[in-house]
Amino acid sequence: MPKVDPELETTVLAYLYDHPGTTKKEISKCTDYSFPTITKGIEALLGKGLIRKRGVKDTSAGRKPSIYEFDGSNYFFVGIDLSIPKFTIALFDLSKRLVASGGGFLDMEAINEGDHSSIPGTLIKHVKSLINRSSISDKRIKGLGVGVPGIVRKGAFKPVTRFETEEMVPLRDPLQKELGFPVTVGNDVDQELLSVLDYKGLKNESDIVAVYLAVRAGERSRARVNIGGSIYHNGHILQGRNGTAGEFGHTSVNVRLEEDLPDCKCGNKNCLDNYVNTKISRASNPKAFPSEITRALNQKIKDLLFIFNPSLLVVDMEAFPEIRREVFENAKAFSRDLAGELCIEEIEIDSVGDSSMACARGAIINQLCEKIREPSKYAEMFTTDENDRG
Ligand SMILES: [Zn+2]
Repeated sequence: MPKVDPELETTVLAYLYDHPGTTKKEISKCTDYSFPTITKGIEALLGKGLIRKRGVKDTSAGRKPSIYEFDGSNYFFVGIDLSIPKFTIALFDLSKRLVASGGGFLDMEAINEGDHSSIPGTLIKHVKSLINRSSISDKRIKGLGVGVPGIVRKGAFKPVTRFETEEMVPLRDPLQKELGFPVTVGNDVDQELLSVLDYKGLKNESDIVAVYLAVRAGERSRARVNIGGSIYHNGHILQGRNGTAGEFGHTSVNVRLEEDLPDCKCGNKNCLDNYVNTKISRASNPKAFPSEITRALNQKIKDLLFIFNPSLLVVDMEAFPEIRREVFENAKAFSRDLAGELCIEEIEIDSVGDSSMACARGAIINQLCEKIREPSKYAEMFTTDENDRG
């Protein structure tokens, strides 16, 4: 197994990740390393299968130098979207290409009886089976990320509305112990926002503020709609003191309440989540869309734009395709008018279409970035004897 020099290797790897198709000389010029040292780094990364030779640089005279690029095809990450009761498992390579996917349903009967260990138990079984089916060696799996609905603390989570539980449900430790690779657990909407930022190339921008409003159908029907959110600021997801920051679904509706709402577990009976779900359940004609919901969502978006003044607002109306366009256009018009009125820049509003893999994809992004850029995290990938490429 080749020796690992994490400092040198992450420097070269991160450089090639950001600048595909560079020569050793160019890398040496842009880093603090000499040409012979860069050559060593290149050899080590080639040996590990993290970069590949792309060809030669077209120079006018002399020997044409080789150019290199990042190769994400030899190592993998598992991403899980635990939407409860349904879950999706996806296997991505280091280039975030989807390699295989699967999923299933949790045993809600066991969970409602208080058997929370059945959650990691079911996930472990499905992860192992997906890895088996994809014929990828365990040694090439470098991490797993899970996105869960609810509040996350130290690798455990508490759902706000999915099932009753007095305590936090442990997820990271049981998964890590059984599967043997690093596991991270985060809020599902946070992971989706990370995925959007990554797609847009904004993941490493520290000066942007991004906000995500998610309105999702519960499983199989929209008898239950889940409303969540996420805030990105200063290069990180803003969690707040206890992880409840961005739970826009439990912030108040600001329309006149003509009716008494049932209680919500969050303690804020007049919350948007409760209002929307009550409106749906009480609608006399299930085919006619309750216009009060559209109004409440439009209002909430205006509040979000003022509270955060984001560089980007992502509006995900998956549960309500009939009003997706209307809400989106309304938000854009508001942002445009506001910009004109206050002589400020228009806020970018984005609407999400198919987000089926976004949570699973987002769940692996932080780990992946760390593995490429942080020497200690990079070194973790090669602590065991595993040079079995080929
Ligand atoms: Zn609530």
